[in-house]
Amino acid sequence: MASGINVRLLDHTSDPIRSLYVAYRTAYSALRPQTIFDRIESEKITREQMLEFVEKRLETGHASPLEQVWFEFAIAGVSRAFSHQFVRHHIGISFEQQSQRYVAFKKGEFPYTVPETVRRAGFAPKMEEAFDRLGELYQEMIDAGIPAEDARFLIPNAANTNFKVVVNFLELLHICDLRLCTRAQWEFRQVASQMRAQIHRRFPELAKYIQPKCGDLRWGYCDESLEDWQACPIGKKRPHKKLLFELFDAQRRGALAPLAEGDFEIIEQVGSSIATTGSAKGGVGAPPVIAPNGDHSAEGTPTTRDEG
Ligand SMILES: Cc1cc2nc3c(=O)[nH]c(=O)nc-3n(C[C@H](O)[C@H](O)[C@H](O)COP(=O)(O)OP(=O)(O)OC[C@H]3O[C@@H](n4cnc5c(N)ncnc54)[C@H](O)[C@@H]3O)c2cc1C
Repeated sequence: MASGINVRLLDHTSDPIRSLYVAYRTAYSALRPQTIFDRIESEKITREQMLEFVEKRLETGHASPLEQVWFEFAIAGVSRAFSHQFVRHHIGISFEQQSQRYVAFKKGEFPYTVPETVRRAGFAPKMEEAFDRLGELYQEMIDAGIPAEDARFLIPNAANTNFKVVVNFLELLHICDLRLCTRAQWEFRQVASQMRAQIHRRFPELAKYIQPKCGDLRWGYCDESLEDWQACPIGKKRPHKKLLFELFDAQRRGALAPLAEGDFEIIEQVGSSIATTGSAKGGVGAPPVIAPNGDHSAEGTPTTRDEG
């Protein structure tokens, strides 16, 4: 049946890009976060500069600032089959779910989802009939004084439920790594897709990172089984992990092309150019340099993750 799933972004960190920028700059600069924040407010630092800096940092795998950006969602019309999976995610996410103890179904009528495969195979009427019978028995039990928390033992996985959820950006990316994968259950893929679409409406610059794990901005390869990769409708766009293993194996067997003399010259020159120019900006591995006046333009650009 047409999905009754509805996801709405209710609230969020007021300015996620600013929040990420202040967090990253705090890590990589001598400036106090207060000063960094004031510079943003006084427009000394533009949105473009913030975005550029944040995007560079995101390439390094320094992910902890993403924990400081949160999104609040209302999610309605999902099945209990979905909710069992959803609540398995427990780091960086907080749930409130409609209770089947405190909310008794009136007249034994509970909303439910009939999967498309069931409908297409012609089983929907039988399923609906079974649910009607369960609803009647549920009501009989409630009328007989059985508490809703026990009468609900009759309620199937198809019964609908609602959530209010707060999730940080790091966890949302992780959830979508797994649940936007075509291997994930269809309902979870639809919820994750709607979460992504909601964020895209407000923050397209962040939404682009919300991808399945094989996405170009995520791992870029598929770690599922070879059969699943072959069966995936977008599988051929990505290398399978087996290819990476073959590369690893080739390296172990000494089958990789050796580095040439020219490569060694590059290695040598990169180091010496830093030493002779004293520039901290262009050199690989150069430490951040901060001007005595704390000038933003003189702040170093770290090239690797640094947990400080
Ligand atoms: C396609 C698919 C099929 C699945 N099938 C089944 C199944 O058949 N049966 C089943 O029971 N479950 C199944 N699961 C659920 C799965 O095993 C996980 O419970 C679920 O994906 C959430 O786990 P998470 O570690 O990603 O949790 P999150 O809370 O999202 O964790 C985020 C990250 O935090 C870290 N983390 C989380 N918990 C811990 C911890 N305790 N200690 C240290 N680090 C931690 C991990 O790095 C993790 O990736 C399935 C999931 C998927 C995507």
